[in-house]
Amino acid sequence: MARPTVRSASRSNAGLVALGGGTDARAPGRVTLVGAGPGDPELLTIKALKALQAAEVVVHDGLVSDEILDLAPVAARRINVAKRKSRHTLPQDDINQLLVALALDGLTVVRLKGGDPFLFGRGGEELAACREAGVDCTVVPGVTAALAASAGAGAPLTHRGAAQAVTFVTGHAAHGEPDLDWTALARPNQTVVVYMGVSTAGLIAERLTAAGRSGSTPALIVENASRADERRLLTTLAGLALAAEGLKGPALLMVGEAMAMADVVPNNIVLRQAQDEVVSGAAVDLILSLSKDEVASPKVQRVSPGQ
Ligand code: SAH
Repeated sequence: MARPTVRSASRSNAGLVALGGGTDARAPGRVTLVGAGPGDPELLTIKALKALQAAEVVVHDGLVSDEILDLAPVAARRINVAKRKSRHTLPQDDINQLLVALALDGLTVVRLKGGDPFLFGRGGEELAACREAGVDCTVVPGVTAALAASAGAGAPLTHRGAAQAVTFVTGHAAHGEPDLDWTALARPNQTVVVYMGVSTAGLIAERLTAAGRSGSTPALIVENASRADERRLLTTLAGLALAAEGLKGPALLMVGEAMAMADVVPNNIVLRQAQDEVVSGAAVDLILSLSKDEVASPKVQRVSPGQ
């Protein structure tokens, strides 16, 4: 796609009244970075809904559902900048330029992003580009995936006696492994939530374990949080990589003692042992004891290597 031309503008132009008409008389537009939440339209904020209803253009990611996009006026133009299926994604710099160009054309632009715009959403870069071009830009927060995943599962991110802190990290880095403080993340009694971590689940588990986090620490994977096809897998840190295999939708890895409280249907409890890892009997017992009614259920699966 050709890069839109960006005309210069400054904040001081905003108050000028143009005399004599002509195309340049159009009032300056603006950009609103809107958090669309994790998928369920009911998790949109009222402010997000109002911004959508006032949009002339909606620039969105592949993850935002049609149900949410349909809340914008029929006449509003929709621009998908990340077609997930074809893996064709507009480079971030082009998205920044596009937002600026549309606003300089006088349009009311909503940049709709999954979850919260400022949590692994590159909203900061878009805001900076708007500021640099003198385009008015405001941010409407959204429910981030971790909040929906934790609420849906009934597994609190912090919990008296089990999780005194929660950290959101990315499992993905532009060049290789994410640069994280594994020693700090490995301390007990805290929850670590990994975004974009499905393909690096093995590496994350390895680093956390090497830094001292017990392999028996409960771990919850939530795929498609808040959507009709949400799926939860309860395992341990030692079983994380195997449990993450084959996931298709967006998913979070959540590691921490409090995750043992997750409400999961019996056959979604995945207790798998990696080839050369030992999940101790204590870990299995901990999970089973904390998953309440499921303990006695014959449907609880213990999956061994090779099964
Ligand atoms: N800004 C978003 C995160 C974007 S990064 C937010 O605040 O939620 C994309 C990652 O978010 C995905 O790889 C996945 O790890 C997570 N994610 C987004 N939506 C999700 C959902 N509905 N269920 C589980 N994980 C989700």
